[in-house]
Amino acid sequence: MAGGEKDLKKETIATHAGRMSAEHFGVVNTPVYRASTILYRDLKSLASADVPYTYGRRGTPTTQSLELAVTALEGGARTVTCPSGLNAVALAMLAVCSAGDHILVVDTCYAPTRQFCDKMLSRFGIEATYYDPLIGADIETLMRPNTRAIFCESPGSLTFEVQDVPAIAGVAHARNAAVLLDNTWATPLYFPALQRGADYSIQAATKYIGGHADVMIGTVCANENHAQRLWETWAFSGLYASGDDCFLALRGLRTMAVRLARHQETALVLARWLKARPEVERVLYPALEDDPGHALWKRDFTGASGLFGLELKPIPLAELETLMNALKLFGMGFSWGGYESLIVPAKLHRTAKPFEAKGPLLRIHAGLEDAGDLIADLEQGFALMKAAS
Ligand SMILES: *Cc1c(COP(=O)(O)O)cnc(C)c1O
Repeated sequence: MAGGEKDLKKETIATHAGRMSAEHFGVVNTPVYRASTILYRDLKSLASADVPYTYGRRGTPTTQSLELAVTALEGGARTVTCPSGLNAVALAMLAVCSAGDHILVVDTCYAPTRQFCDKMLSRFGIEATYYDPLIGADIETLMRPNTRAIFCESPGSLTFEVQDVPAIAGVAHARNAAVLLDNTWATPLYFPALQRGADYSIQAATKYIGGHADVMIGTVCANENHAQRLWETWAFSGLYASGDDCFLALRGLRTMAVRLARHQETALVLARWLKARPEVERVLYPALEDDPGHALWKRDFTGASGLFGLELKPIPLAELETLMNALKLFGMGFSWGGYESLIVPAKLHRTAKPFEAKGPLLRIHAGLEDAGDLIADLEQGFALMKAAS
């Protein structure tokens, strides 16, 4: 199976799409091809380029397997692979924007996305305006004649607001603008971005697709209207994700459905437990019934991943240090989506609409450990924090 047969469930597509066993002696996984030069049979085939693979940078069976699998899962027309998730974000923006254009970018985007807009796009005469993640159809008021794209990330990085993507896409498409969506949190398994109105679905495959904290890679999948433009921008930029990294991403993708289900289950247990704690002001996780984004999440998503936010009641920095340093099962480090639990302080970079938080804001990734063990770890951390207060 190479494409996305419509009647198959996503779990089945994740298991089968992009496999090329018959071309590889029956071997289940497409092997790692390391290639620069690819030899042509004869002069005629070289002149016509009528061969599936032409040069290492342009792809091998390893990269193609991953691209086909992601295309099938996203339900799109074409996927390209990039050396990082940030590069996938940048590539999608460069595919749609030219000098003199305007792009609307959600205020809750991943911080380096904002940096790319402010420090790079601006140098090429592309202006970014940040908008409230809850703006919905009112984004109309920010549209300019030269607005070429609306960039979404739902739920938002660090504060987890759910965007009304179909409403935003309705406005964008009526004005001939493209919708770019960073779909890293939900993955195509839990949010069918293209079906909800995005023209480009972006994955930091470094996170859940890779799933083991050992690979940096990104993907961009576009619908039919944008497939050629995406491919050209990718090809002309000289981007390349290595065979080894594509292999690791594809290996992760095969088990993503079961991992995500477990991440979700554990995140819900932790979120509910934390919400009941006296040290906690609120939990930011759209899967919780009383989260402000719950209704939209329920309407548009089919699941929640393992990443959520947490606001503590105001405490001195020393107490926060005691809590964080006491945790044994939650690592402190950036990125997420691997098998392990993580916790970091959240640093916001908003300009469109401030986020009101009185106490420290944290971000938790629920890993694949036993939920009871994770709760016990948090419990001893809170106990030490209390003893130190
Ligand atoms: C991590 C992340 C990225 C960037 O991915 P890298 O592979 O680290 O470059 C982009 N968007 C979101 C939402 C992320 O969390």
